[in-house]
Amino acid sequence: MHAVELKNISKRFSGKNKRDFLAVDRIDLPIAQGEFFSLLGPSGCGKTTLLRMIAGFELPTSGEIFIHGEPMRDRPPFHRPVNTVFQNYALFPHLTVADNVAFGLQMEQVPKQEIRSRVGEALAMVKLNGMENRRPRQLSGGQQQRVALARALVKKPQVLLFDEPLAALDLKLRKEMQIELKHMQQQLGITFIFVTHDQGEALTMSDRIAVLNAGKVLQVGTPTDIYEEPRSRFVADFIGETNFLSGQVQQHQDGITSVLVDNTLLLNVARDRELPIGTQVTLIIRPEKAMLYPLDAVKDHCIRGTVEEIVYLGTDTRFVVRLTPQSTIVVRRQNLTRSDLAVAAGKNVQVRLSPGSLRILEEDKAM
Ligand code: ATP
Repeated sequence: MHAVELKNISKRFSGKNKRDFLAVDRIDLPIAQGEFFSLLGPSGCGKTTLLRMIAGFELPTSGEIFIHGEPMRDRPPFHRPVNTVFQNYALFPHLTVADNVAFGLQMEQVPKQEIRSRVGEALAMVKLNGMENRRPRQLSGGQQQRVALARALVKKPQVLLFDEPLAALDLKLRKEMQIELKHMQQQLGITFIFVTHDQGEALTMSDRIAVLNAGKVLQVGTPTDIYEEPRSRFVADFIGETNFLSGQVQQHQDGITSVLVDNTLLLNVARDRELPIGTQVTLIIRPEKAMLYPLDAVKDHCIRGTVEEIVYLGTDTRFVVRLTPQSTIVVRRQNLTRSDLAVAAGKNVQVRLSPGSLRILEEDKAM
């Protein structure tokens, strides 16, 4: 049984003066028990609306949501086995840390003794022991975030929902909290559903990611699937930097598809599935998968190019290389080698695009 299952979920907002707006468009999504699942997409793609429907704050216009096999349609938010951690933490400023965490249990009239021990456990989980009597304003952003998490954990939910909970933190703290949340989720075995627009965050934390755009799920997969095998131009572009080269399929032989780019470059791509000869396709390659060599190096799968720009970025160096009058390619190199430095010194170079690192997007899925 799935922890959460969305079946054909749509959400249409209608306002008096506004036209109807389809924020979520027929989404099917099964989420496994104990999974760290991220909903990733740009602003306005519908990810928060989807999360709010799971929590029960919004009702779907059509479709059904199941949590542990039970339909949720008639269940108000407080009767669903889920809890939400919001972006702005939603802490009560006048209550102490302990009282903020205890609040939900007090509402449920849990006995005082049990509240005390559960609040203690939850605060220990988020490493806030000793802070019980502080008020939210006496805490850092990261600590407030932990209080919000403790307040959700204390209810022992089967599913925890997160709406961009780290968005307000600075980059360093944010990275620390990502690792901590991931560890905590693994220890607790609770299903986490995490909304974010930050692709790095989703890649770091998730077991699986759903990439959304314009109310639709474009691809669901592990971070490696999504990064290495994007199935559309949108996903390839949204998850990190990607090079796009357009061309036509020329031939297939022994699991290699040859594609003619800009009528001049013949590039070989390792691929099992054959496409009809002449099909318009887009080739993609990640900047770190392309290699640079000096002109005199003897390598296979190399093409000649001209370096147009070199930017040193600390951890790596970004080269822009012109391959044809129409196309350039970005190459990123870490730990510059002698050969990279030789490349940087000269203008004309060889770019190696190996068949295993190129991917084909069929043109109809490319936009
Ligand atoms: P963000 O990261 O900016 O929060 P999001 O992907 O979470 O974006 P949603 O908040 O789910 O996006 O909103 C999806 C779309 O639905 C947006 O265009 C938004 O304007 C619209 N929308 C959301 N709530 C309502 C509402 N109550 N009434 C009308 N339109 C709404």
